[in-house]
Amino acid sequence: RVVDIETFSLEDASSEQTLRPDAWSEYIGQEQIKKNLSVFIEASKKRDEALDHVLFYGPPGLGKTTLALIIANEMNSNIKVTAAPMIEKSGDLAAILTNLEEGDILFIDEIHRLSPAVEEILYSSMEDYRIDIIIGSGPAAQTVKIDLPRFTLIGATTRAGMLSNPLRDRFGMSFRMNFYSHDELAEIIKQASAKLEREIVHEAALEIAKRSRGTPRIALRLLRRVRDFAEVADEEHIHHQRTQYALDELGINSHGFDEMDLRLLKLLASSNGRPMGLSTIAAALSEDEGTVEDVLEPYLIANGYLERTAKGRRATRATYDVLNMNNINEDGT
Ligand code: ATP
Repeated sequence: RVVDIETFSLEDASSEQTLRPDAWSEYIGQEQIKKNLSVFIEASKKRDEALDHVLFYGPPGLGKTTLALIIANEMNSNIKVTAAPMIEKSGDLAAILTNLEEGDILFIDEIHRLSPAVEEILYSSMEDYRIDIIIGSGPAAQTVKIDLPRFTLIGATTRAGMLSNPLRDRFGMSFRMNFYSHDELAEIIKQASAKLEREIVHEAALEIAKRSRGTPRIALRLLRRVRDFAEVADEEHIHHQRTQYALDELGINSHGFDEMDLRLLKLLASSNGRPMGLSTIAAALSEDEGTVEDVLEPYLIANGYLERTAKGRRATRATYDVLNMNNINEDGT
């Protein structure tokens, strides 16, 4: 099994790997996705065929890459991991595709960022397992057809809306990843701390879970920092009190908001309920629009702290409550 992890972030690559579940039993939550996927995996194994192409979409850090690795494990397939920004030219993709073997899995992260020319090559490879490559230019240009082995493409994206229709239609299955409940996150945290060989008590795991924006990647990052505090204090187990202290020291709000969330909520609240456009918000926060839309907003919307209306984004009553403000929106809501 070849796993090319060069596209993972360097910072936490090694620890993410050791904490990454590689079997269904360790993959907590996303029950409906797991249920459906196991049926499709079993069916394609019975037919001795490659699994149909799969698309995962949803905010970052919810376990898309992990699911792709588990699928490869279950299918006993090799997996090649890459990300769209690494595939600049159609030749890059052609090289990857022609190096695949029958039944291999190709995982492309951030698949919405492929250029149109590269996407074009992907269409025919997904549908007909064939690509047409143009060699040379001008009148001497020649088209060469290359047959590919039957492979499975797993695409991941934070922005399903940005995928072109032809690309989206070529995925046999697509799954929307959901935020995790506090209990699920606590389970993930306990499992990870067992792997890190420093047990965590349930209340402490739950405390981290509540402050993790429903996201396993954040939960695991906080766990590692809290573990550092426990380590320095020479505590064998991670206790609730130490956890609270550590999270407060790290400036993690008890609603799970980070500094950026709070800046966004305060900005919306300051407009007294008048909707604010995405570009205005992005400029005020010095963030790009994509980050505001894909990373910041989904969690706030899912928890009722932000509303998207036709005229823009606006604060909700919960926003004012959480900021301890009494304002109400223009229309009295
Ligand atoms: P991105 O799209 O930003 O790459 P992602 O959605 O692919 O993010 P992963 O890298 O798969 O997220 O997951 C982040 C971390 O969270 C991993 O270290 C993984 O171990 C852990 N994790 C994610 N989902 C689960 C889960 N359901 N159960 C246990 N651990 C999980």
